[in-house]
Amino acid sequence: MMFLMRLTAAGNLVQFDLAEPAQQLGVGPSRALFGMSLDELNTIALDLGEPAYRGQQIFDALYRQRADSLDAITTLPLSFRAALEAAGYSIAAPRIAQSFQSKDGTERYLVELADGRTVETVWMPEGDGTEEWGEDEEQSASKPYRRATICVSSQVGCAVRCQFCFTARMGLERHLTAGEIAGQVTAVLNRHDVEIGSARGQGNPDRINLVFMGMGEPFHNYDNFMDAFRLLVDGVGIPASRMTVSTSGIVPGIEAFAREPLRPRLAISLNAPNDDIRERIMPITRKWPIAELVKALKAVSLSPRERLTFEYVLLAKVNDQMQHAEELVSLIKGSGLRAKVNLIVWNPGPELDFAMPSPDTVAAFQAALRAAEIPAYIRRPRGLDIFAACGQLKRTVESSD
Ligand code: SAH
Ligand code: SF4
Repeated sequence: MMFLMRLTAAGNLVQFDLAEPAQQLGVGPSRALFGMSLDELNTIALDLGEPAYRGQQIFDALYRQRADSLDAITTLPLSFRAALEAAGYSIAAPRIAQSFQSKDGTERYLVELADGRTVETVWMPEGDGTEEWGEDEEQSASKPYRRATICVSSQVGCAVRCQFCFTARMGLERHLTAGEIAGQVTAVLNRHDVEIGSARGQGNPDRINLVFMGMGEPFHNYDNFMDAFRLLVDGVGIPASRMTVSTSGIVPGIEAFAREPLRPRLAISLNAPNDDIRERIMPITRKWPIAELVKALKAVSLSPRERLTFEYVLLAKVNDQMQHAEELVSLIKGSGLRAKVNLIVWNPGPELDFAMPSPDTVAAFQAALRAAEIPAYIRRPRGLDIFAACGQLKRTVESSD
């Protein structure tokens, strides 16, 4: 309660609902249909004496129509729905437990999992995590569809100890399952009544981008992450080219990623122009120095218009000086990688001993990259009034409970 009062008194945070507690979320994850692949669903149909195509019907209902209960899957005969229920199956998709709305339209959710744990998911209308402001200035207000980006978590907490990150402070609690990763997306799509493709309507379906940049390191949870990606492409219907996964630079993960026949776009949290600085803010650099990272990235073959994204969180005095920009230019040019840079203004918070760079420094850093013909965009922090940095909302809520 203290939390609610303190924040609403500040006048900029509105908590507008509380959903059911975890015990009402249906049976445990072992019988959760949500998250299963088409093969698994086909097997369940066959095991219950139904033709395999019933598996496809469940698949479509779970991911394309985003049904929220077995009763809502009207394509299935009543007797089969009853048999599924009797066998202990339920949809059991993750649900939004708490929502926080920012003045700039950003909405941030704590999504509750079957074990009662929560992760953060963010809805950013208009704002676009992959195309960046300035790159596509068209106003969606004049269009018959909506644009939005959803930021998705891959783990509860994170084992990578980046010094500037709130999620790092939690350590790793556990990996998310494929259903828990994809389920964050469907929960948010349902909340906003989004139409993807033509399954839920004709005409101009909404343009949704996904960024896997929430809590956690996706490449530490590689298989579940890629399974979720495939469910989102084949099931939910979001094109692979509209998704971007961000990694802190887990080299074996990048190597596996390079071999995938279908994959999202790739962003790498570089955050420093050399190993010395990077090691200080991202100790994982000791394991995989920048040269090894670059080598692994070279094996990722890019489609004709695709670029890698280097994310670079600007930390005052640490990595935001002109000499750092120049070093970054040499690093990128020297690597031969086709890359753009997303400059992220560090989002401050308690317990973290860094400072935000000044707007002039940020502008000068961007100008230096652009002068060298490296595309560079400034990612303005969204929803600052609702603790928009990775992991910040969850920590704030938990520490005030
Ligand atoms: N673990 C992955 C994806 C999640 S973090 C990764 O590190 O890439 C997503 C992005 O948020 C990363 O680029 C990270 O550097 C950045 N980030 C983390 N804490 C931040 C903060 N306090 N302010 C701004 N950006 C932050
Ligand atoms: Fe983990 Fe990414 Fe945070 Fe680093 S920045 S601790 S990899 S979530």
